[in-house]
Amino acid sequence: MNPHVLLSRRRFVKTTCVAGAAVAVAGGKFSWPLRGAAAEPVLTPPKPSWVDRPMRWAQLTLVEDDPGRFDLAFWLDYFRRTRSDAVCLSAGGCVAYYPTQVPFHHRSQWLGDRDVFGELVAGCRKLGMVVIARTDPHATYNDVHQAHPDWIAVDAEGRPRRHWASPEMWITCALGPYNFEFMTEVKKEIMSRYRVDAIFINRWDGSGICFCEHCRRNFREANGLELPLSNNPQDPARRAYILWRQQRLFDLWRLWDGEVRKINPDSCVIPNTGGGATSSLDMKRIGELAPTLIADRQARRGLAPPWMNGKNGKEFRAAMGRKPIVGIFSVGLEEPYRWKDSVQSEAEIRLWVADGVANGLRPWFTKFSGVLHDERWLKPVEALYRRYAQWEKYLRHERPLARVGLEDAPRIINGARRVEVAATAPFPNPPLTLIPSYPDLPMEKVYPRVPKTDIPQVYPRESGRSRIVYFPWDIDRTFLEVLCADHLKLLRNAVAWATNEDPLITVSGPGVLDVTVWQQRDSLTVHLVNLTNPMMMKGPVRELIPIGEQQVRLRLPEGARPRRVRLLAADQRPHVQRIGSYLHATVPSILDHEIVVIEL
Ligand SMILES: [Zn+2]
Repeated sequence: MNPHVLLSRRRFVKTTCVAGAAVAVAGGKFSWPLRGAAAEPVLTPPKPSWVDRPMRWAQLTLVEDDPGRFDLAFWLDYFRRTRSDAVCLSAGGCVAYYPTQVPFHHRSQWLGDRDVFGELVAGCRKLGMVVIARTDPHATYNDVHQAHPDWIAVDAEGRPRRHWASPEMWITCALGPYNFEFMTEVKKEIMSRYRVDAIFINRWDGSGICFCEHCRRNFREANGLELPLSNNPQDPARRAYILWRQQRLFDLWRLWDGEVRKINPDSCVIPNTGGGATSSLDMKRIGELAPTLIADRQARRGLAPPWMNGKNGKEFRAAMGRKPIVGIFSVGLEEPYRWKDSVQSEAEIRLWVADGVANGLRPWFTKFSGVLHDERWLKPVEALYRRYAQWEKYLRHERPLARVGLEDAPRIINGARRVEVAATAPFPNPPLTLIPSYPDLPMEKVYPRVPKTDIPQVYPRESGRSRIVYFPWDIDRTFLEVLCADHLKLLRNAVAWATNEDPLITVSGPGVLDVTVWQQRDSLTVHLVNLTNPMMMKGPVRELIPIGEQQVRLRLPEGARPRRVRLLAADQRPHVQRIGSYLHATVPSILDHEIVVIEL
């Protein structure tokens, strides 16, 4: 019997069983986690009706002394002027900005008999905005510590943990009754009183490992082990902890989501899951649970290049598919020093947001404190948002058109880290083989001990209609660190070989650009983000520097009939030529962000 046929039949049988199970649970879709403690099925919750509507988000995180001091009318007017269509407003958790009845839910000391959150909600609803409530459960007060000492996080020595920045407060345990019981009551109260569209939850996943009585007991019951004392991933207890913590957090997510949907079926919770690939949780499972997701990488810091925001967008899209993804950006500096009231340069904000938008992230500005200490960010963000509002129909993407993506060097440097692998199929004539490492000192000892091996360092492979290039070493990370031109060439060739087709888009001209191509309902768009700047590899950018003429060559999708071509930022029609299935357009200059629109 042909072994391929046998394999297909087995697959078919397995698929049929899963489909049967899905029908048994009210039409929900089952899928299986990529990794995790148990192959537990995930029930994808229904999508609230509003999630695809917002294109421009605003966030106002009140500070405790804001009530009575901040200008509520100013903020409502600013939301209107920026044409923001969704807003995230502080409601409760650490500080309640409404007259809560939940015991131990701390009301702002400046609240008096007001309901500041309710007033903001009402004002934003009048503007037609989607309104979501922000909660933050990570810190609490002495009265909670006295009444419920088991709600407080505990360190490895058994001491309850004070807050690192506000030492009069306590850190809460994320995986015990504080979150599972108290914060559930807070969410139910907010949803019952205001029927908001969703509840956004900041810092909900704990502040490091907790050794409280609940965590110790629950972990022991689940794994038969004590909580790990080291970060060593080789420690079986550490590995078990990583998976157990993740399971507890997904249980918490489902609990909160289920409880708010019982009150408002057209709502959901949106836990903050950080920045894409660096999330400590399984992004595939997150992609299944979340109807929309917010990327929280607010600005670049240190040596981050400006395209990190776009990379964030790509990572989120990989987990979320066509679900709407949103990118939070800060109007302040986001270096480790956390000067929360600082204001970033206009050029840096523009470039950071542009690269996110070019990669499908809908913008979300965040501001802490309703009282403004520095107003310089207001005008740039307003201008940016009005621009995106004008371009809105060209930013409602249906799908990206880009597809994911050896030569004249006799010898190239390897990466910094390499894994030993054994091929599962023969690789004759490998394009790149290993020369084992040798000492770098003393100088007399710097010579290769083995001149050549036949160990491949790149594995190009065809499998059916797919092409795969596997590097058993960290070429991408090493390239970013040392910027070796040979690595760039190797990466570029690998992508070209794997895609196995004429490139969809080529842009020729001076400078460094981030280029993306999208399809909307009635148009195609080419985003050109100008990253060319002396501050490209170390921000913030101080000024935007225009680059000269770019020749854009786009391969049109089959059947596409371009009616009209426009440049959105320049607000003009470019010189265009159609040659076969290719469209050539000349873009005279780009300041920060140009979008070539091809109306279909
Ligand atoms: Zn705990």
